[in-house]
Amino acid sequence: MARNLPDLSSLRPAGSKHSTKRDRVLSVFLRQEGHLSADDLCDLVHLEDPGIGRATVYRTLQWMVGAGIARKVNFGEGRARFEPAYRHPRHFHLVCAECRRSSEFLSSDIESLLEEIASARNFQAGQAVVQISGVCEDCRTGVKTPPLDGTTTERVFARDALRIAIATERSGLEFYSRASKLTTDPRGREVFERLAEEEKEHLGTLEKRYAELLADDEQLESRPTFLFFKGAANGIFAEGSEKLGKGVDDQQALLIGIKCERGSHQFFKRYGERFEDSEGRRIFLEFADEERTHLELLIREYRSLRERQATERSGRRPSARARAAR
Ligand SMILES: [Zn+2]
Ligand SMILES: [Zn+2]
Repeated sequence: MARNLPDLSSLRPAGSKHSTKRDRVLSVFLRQEGHLSADDLCDLVHLEDPGIGRATVYRTLQWMVGAGIARKVNFGEGRARFEPAYRHPRHFHLVCAECRRSSEFLSSDIESLLEEIASARNFQAGQAVVQISGVCEDCRTGVKTPPLDGTTTERVFARDALRIAIATERSGLEFYSRASKLTTDPRGREVFERLAEEEKEHLGTLEKRYAELLADDEQLESRPTFLFFKGAANGIFAEGSEKLGKGVDDQQALLIGIKCERGSHQFFKRYGERFEDSEGRRIFLEFADEERTHLELLIREYRSLRERQATERSGRRPSARARAAR
């Protein structure tokens, strides 16, 4: 993933006389994609500044790990490798035993499973390492695929973010269509119908954006998946749809909708905020905003439904507040 370079002044250790050399090592490191060994980094630094010694590079690496700028990873080669940690969200690796190349993927499914396991065991989780070792496609087939450059990585990320948003939107649409059929309160039904319409419209917008992205790059559709977010996002509405099927009243239907929208909003916001500035991040955060709007609408509707029902029960004329809410 492409990284924004951090503001060096905020990372520079105060009063260090090596700060200039350190800055250079740091800046070489942050410009790299992938996972460097200390020797790889020494070679790269030497290309730019032969005056910087091995010891300085090693010391700087250690300092970067301590400061949370670099992460140490071990691919079972008998030596450590380092990757930028700065604004680089948690991810997992596939490591090829033949060519030694590694590739990355992100998975909310794995993360939520890890969290679930740790909490079930009352375990305060620190770092969890998930690594798949084996033989990569290139080594198995002999067909060389060019390594991903920064632009392509960004596009793959945006493609996957859109796929997730589209899947969530579809399952939201299904939820609201179902809810509108089940709801007997005319106003509640109208709200669900309106949301179904909105989801349909937004789905169209997302699909258009997806098609535009693919038009820029013929091979994009077939590139390997980067985000494995299968269960988490679209599972939220699927669970809601299932609950609707069990027979619920209007109030309960609205509450289920509220829960789904809240879950979806939080999910997209939480992940979007972890990503550095990119098209993928924007897709996540825009989607989170949209879900918040739906959430607010449902909450308003839930309140006014309760008020209407209370009024009907007491046989009173609707209060000024209930009338104003219409
Ligand atoms: Zn390989
Ligand atoms: Zn990595």
